[in-house]
Amino acid sequence: MQKNYVLGFPRIGEKRELKKVLEKYWSKQVDFSEVKYVAQQLKKRHWNYQKKANVDFISSNDFSYYDNMLDTTILLGAIPKRFENLKDEELYFAMARGNDNCVAMEMTKWFNTNYHYIVPEISKDTTFKLNSKKVIEEYKEAKELGIKTKINLIGAITYLGLSNNLDNSDKFSHINNVVEVYKELLSQISELEDDGEIVVQFDEPLFVKDLDSKVLSLIKRVYDVLANVSSNIKVVVSTYFEHSNEASKILVNTPIWALGLDFIHGSKNIEALEFIKNSNKVLIAGVIDGRNIWKSNFEEKVELLEEISKVINKDNIIVSTSSSLLHVPFTLSYEEKLDTEIKSWLAFATEKLKELSLISKQFFGLNLTLEESSSIKRNIEENKQRKISTKIHNIKIQKELEDLKVFQRVDKFEDRIKVQREFFKYDFLTTTTIGSFPQTPQIRENRKSYKANLISKDTYEEEIKKYIDDCISFQDEIGLDVLVHGEPERNDMVEYFGEMLDGFAFTQNAWVQSYGSRCVKPPLIYGDINRENPMTVEWIKYAQSKTKKIVKGMLTGPVTILNWSFVRDDKPRSQVAQQIALAISKEVDDLQNAGIKMIQVDEAAFKEGYPLRIENIKTYEQWAVDNFKLSISPAKIDTQIHTHMCYSEFNDIIKTIEAMDADVISIETARSGNRLLKIFKEVGYKQEVGPGIYDIHSPRVPSVKEMVNQIEELLEVLPKEQLWINPDCGLKTRKWPEVKQSLKNMVEAVQIVKKTNY
Ligand code: GLN
Ligand code: ZN
Repeated sequence: MQKNYVLGFPRIGEKRELKKVLEKYWSKQVDFSEVKYVAQQLKKRHWNYQKKANVDFISSNDFSYYDNMLDTTILLGAIPKRFENLKDEELYFAMARGNDNCVAMEMTKWFNTNYHYIVPEISKDTTFKLNSKKVIEEYKEAKELGIKTKINLIGAITYLGLSNNLDNSDKFSHINNVVEVYKELLSQISELEDDGEIVVQFDEPLFVKDLDSKVLSLIKRVYDVLANVSSNIKVVVSTYFEHSNEASKILVNTPIWALGLDFIHGSKNIEALEFIKNSNKVLIAGVIDGRNIWKSNFEEKVELLEEISKVINKDNIIVSTSSSLLHVPFTLSYEEKLDTEIKSWLAFATEKLKELSLISKQFFGLNLTLEESSSIKRNIEENKQRKISTKIHNIKIQKELEDLKVFQRVDKFEDRIKVQREFFKYDFLTTTTIGSFPQTPQIRENRKSYKANLISKDTYEEEIKKYIDDCISFQDEIGLDVLVHGEPERNDMVEYFGEMLDGFAFTQNAWVQSYGSRCVKPPLIYGDINRENPMTVEWIKYAQSKTKKIVKGMLTGPVTILNWSFVRDDKPRSQVAQQIALAISKEVDDLQNAGIKMIQVDEAAFKEGYPLRIENIKTYEQWAVDNFKLSISPAKIDTQIHTHMCYSEFNDIIKTIEAMDADVISIETARSGNRLLKIFKEVGYKQEVGPGIYDIHSPRVPSVKEMVNQIEELLEVLPKEQLWINPDCGLKTRKWPEVKQSLKNMVEAVQIVKKTNY
C-alpha cells in the first residue's frame, strides 16, 4: 500500500555541490559535462535518501539546474525572441542570467517564500512547442536506479498566471496552446510504462490566491482534458502555502486522481474535506511543514490526520509534506556547533523524511520496529522538553511587554518635522546614503579572523575604526549632508543583530536556495528575544565623533528581522515581532541618548511578509505597522527617524507605509524614473521621501547630467522640501571606485539643480 508522499526535494546539495559546480562553469573553470555529472550524482543521492526513508511517492523533474519555472518555459518552448539563436545550456543560462547581447529574463519571488523564479514572458505572438527531453530523461534516470517516480510539472494555469504579459494582451488567451503541449507530453509519458500507472503531479499554487471567476472557470476546462489523456496516468493537482477551497470545489468534479492540500499553512483546507469525500478523490494531506524547521509533534500530526479521516476514508488518504522541501535546509548532520538542546527541536529535509514515514505508519496502524517505537517516544519527550525549556522563556521580557505603556511616538509628524527642520538646518534636496559602503576583502577577512580567534578584539576594532575614518572623511570631502558609518562590522543586516540578541540561533550549513546558485542561511528564532546590551551605539558614536555633520545610525527593523528568519512555531509571528520591536526600541533610545540625532530603521522585507489571501492582509498590516511604530517609539521630537525599503511599487500599500510614521523614507525607484513616485503625490503623502536616484545593483557610474535629469523629474512630482537625494539601496556590494565617482556625481548634480532652479 502506498502511504506517503513528498511534494519535492531540495536540489542544491547537502554541501551546496550544485552551487559550486555551476559557479565554476560560469567562470569557465569546468565545462558543462562536469555540471551534468554533479547533477546526476545529486539526483541519485536525493532519490536514494527518499527511498531509504520509505517514501512511497518520490519525484522526478523536481531537480533543476537553475529554476523549475525556467525549465517549464523550455519544456513549453515559449522562448522569448531575443534568445532565438541560442540552444541547450547556452540558451538556458542566458535566459536565467543574460549574456553579452541579451538581458536576462526577470526574476521574482515564488509566492511568500524567499525562493525566486524566472518569470515567463508572454505576448500575443508567443508560440508553444513541446520539448520533453528533461522530463522524460529524468524519469528514465530514476528508473534505471530502480526508482519509479511521480513526475512533477508546473500547472498550466499557474504557469500563465505568473507570467509577464509584455503587450497587455490576455495571458490566459494561450491556455489552449499550453494544454495542447501538456497533452502531447502526457501521451509521451504514458508510453514510458508498458504495464503500470504513472503519477503526474501538477503544481498549481496559484489556486491559493483570490482568483477571479475567469481564472476559476479555466480549472475545469484544463483538468477535464489533462486528466483524460491516458488511462495509465494518474493526475495529481497540488496546491500549497494557503487554502485553495474555491479551486478544490471545482477540481473534485474533474477526472483527476488526487488533490494535494496544505493543512499547515492553509488550515481552512479542512473545509474542502466534505466535497472531496463525496467525490471519492484521493487526498494528499500535507501535514509536515515544508516551510519551517521545527520537529513535528507526532501526537499532534496523527491527531490532525485522525480528524481528516473522520470525513475521508483512510484508504483515500496519503500523508505528505505541506509543500516541496525546497524551502528548508538539507540536513542537521553537519551542525556541529548548534546547542544540542536546540538541535533536538529541529528537523531539516532529510529528518522530515523520517518523520513522514513514522507519522504515516502510526496513522495507518502499521507495525513499528523497536527502533521506530523508541523514536516516537523520543519525539513526545523532546516536544515536552521544548515547551518547558528555560531557553525559550524569558519572564523578564514577557513582563516588560505586558507592562508596555508607550506604543508609538508621542509627537505628531507635523510638529516633529518643524522642530527637526529648525534643528538640522537642512534646506531641501538633502543628500545621504542608505547605510552600507563597500564590503572590501580586507573587511571580510578581518571579521572572519576575529570570529576564528586569529586576531585580538583590539586589532579587529582598529581595523573597523580605520574603515569608519576613511568612510567619514570621504563623505565629508565630497559634501554629502547626512553621513553614515558604512556598516563595516556587519556581515548581514539580520545576522548582525540576531547574533547579539537572546532567542536567536545560527547554523553552519542550513542553506536554502534563494535563486539559481544563490542560497541564504536564515537565523532561527527559537525563544523569547532579549537585548541585554547596546548593539550599534559604540560604532555610531565613534563615527559621529569624527565629523561635524550628522551621522545617521543604522538599525534593522522588527518586521524584516522576522521575515528573514525561521520563526518559532509556538508563538504567533505578531508576538515574536513585538519582542524584536522592543529590543530595537531600546537601541533607538540608547542611540539618541548617546547624541545620535538621526536613526534609520530598515524595513527591506516589510512587503515580503504580506499574506497570500486578501482576507489576511489587514491583520498583517496592523501588527507589522504597530511593531515598527513600537520599535521607534522612544524617539524624541528632534530625533529624526528614517526607514528604507527595497521596493518601488507602493500603489497598494501607500497608506500603510504612511501609517508607519517614519519622518523620512528612502525607496528603490531609480529604475522607474518618477513614474512610481506619483502615488505619493496622489494620496497626499506627508512625510519626506528619498527616491533612489541611481541603481546600485549595477557597477555603472551614472553621469552628473543623468542624475540632474532624474532629480528634475522627481521635482515634477514632489516639492523640493519633501525630497531627499540618495542612491536606491546600500552600497555594500559595489566597489570603492564606482561608489566614489557615483556619489561625487550625485552631490554635484544636486548642486547644479539647486543653482539653476532656486
Ligand atoms: N542599511 C542597509 C544597507 O545599506 C540596508 C540594506 C537593505 O535594505 N537591503 O546595506
Ligand atoms: Zn534597499
